Amino acid sequence: MIIQPKVRGFICLSAHKQGCAANVAEQISYVKQNRTENAGPKNVLVIGGSTGYGLASAITAAFGYDAKTLSIFFEKPPKENKTASAGYYNAAAFQAEARNAGLQAQAINGDAFSTECKQAVIDRAKQNNETFDLVVYSLASPRRTDPQTGETFKSVLKPIGQDYTYKNLNTDKLTISDTTIEPASEEEIANTIKVMGGEDWELWIEALSKANVLSQDFQTVAYTYLGEKITWPIYGHGTIGKAKEDLDRAAATINTTTGATNARLGVLKALVTQASSAIPTMPLYLSLLYKAMKEAGTHEGCIEQISRLFIECLYSDTPRLDKDGRYRVDNFELQNDIQKQVISTWPQVTEENLYETTDYAGYRSEFLKLFGFGRSDIDYEADCDPLVELDAITL
Ligand code: NAD
Repeated sequence: MIIQPKVRGFICLSAHKQGCAANVAEQISYVKQNRTENAGPKNVLVIGGSTGYGLASAITAAFGYDAKTLSIFFEKPPKENKTASAGYYNAAAFQAEARNAGLQAQAINGDAFSTECKQAVIDRAKQNNETFDLVVYSLASPRRTDPQTGETFKSVLKPIGQDYTYKNLNTDKLTISDTTIEPASEEEIANTIKVMGGEDWELWIEALSKANVLSQDFQTVAYTYLGEKITWPIYGHGTIGKAKEDLDRAAATINTTTGATNARLGVLKALVTQASSAIPTMPLYLSLLYKAMKEAGTHEGCIEQISRLFIECLYSDTPRLDKDGRYRVDNFELQNDIQKQVISTWPQVTEENLYETTDYAGYRSEFLKLFGFGRSDIDYEADCDPLVELDAITL
């Protein structure tokens, strides 16, 4: 079939198999070129490993350190006449490349929040007779079903305490207008913490630890975003920020339980991913940020960020830590001159000058690329079989 993008707001309903494979190959090539001789992980569990930062983590562990990987994700397989989700194609391409290189790359396609999924990972580790020395927690999900009660919670992206009016860039119509979001209710705040907070991360570590499938000196890292003033009303000080604060609590609890500093947060920069494009203000913020960072020569994608996280933080004798003990690789985004440029250009952006004042073109092309589209090396008019092989346990 001929596969073209079917974009609806911040989501694309189709994905291109070869395009996704080319994206994965590009990331692998980056990691291979930036390999170091440093010691690194040997056996890595990536929870949320099919797209964005999680996929980049699996690629970095495998191709930067020859580590074995087990990736967990929740993705749609293809049908004869329907494409898979991009993450499914990414996972298939990663597994094929890793296995070609002689590396163990296993996968589970299921709900990471469930007890069943945790058990499947434990069973797999026991079958392999292996323990994980690194557990990456990179889930981004709009809902979570509590495994104990069966109740499903939905997260919201809202400010806390007061309305927030922001300049909204509608990426379907390319219009810019003021949009107001009402503050979240107490229940919405609590639900967002339930979905995107630290509870599930703790449950994972507790289950893996009880089953003795964690190495003595294991590390676990959960990804977070802090940002600066301009994103605080909707992110840092909003419902998602509250959920992310809960990750700090979870890290402290894990460390108290294990009696060592095994758990830390990894603070990453804002980037176009399936998760971030759904956040109000992010399309405009990212378009401005990309422009500023590209001009400064400090622009990075997922793979550059995660590569630095491994080299400069997780496997460094002198990791870049903040006062709260979090790994920081968002340093270039938060530089004063970058933030100043974003803040000062923000009010000047109009529908007419969008392409001059911002890097919306770059944002758009990165967005399409998430689904395997917009690559110059792929013929999108050519017939493409949507089916792909992926060796994964499906729950
Ligand atoms: P993403 O949407 O690209 O990836 C989410 C991953 O989670 C996918 O692999 C998906 O399959 C998996 N997933 C979702 N629900 C699942 C479920 N129920 N069971 C199993 N797997 C499930 O997101 P991302 O932007 O890479 O975000 C990953 C983490 O990084 C998040 O914690 C996010 O807050 C954080 N982060 C993102 C940014 C950014 O700008 N994108 C910046 C800093 C930190």
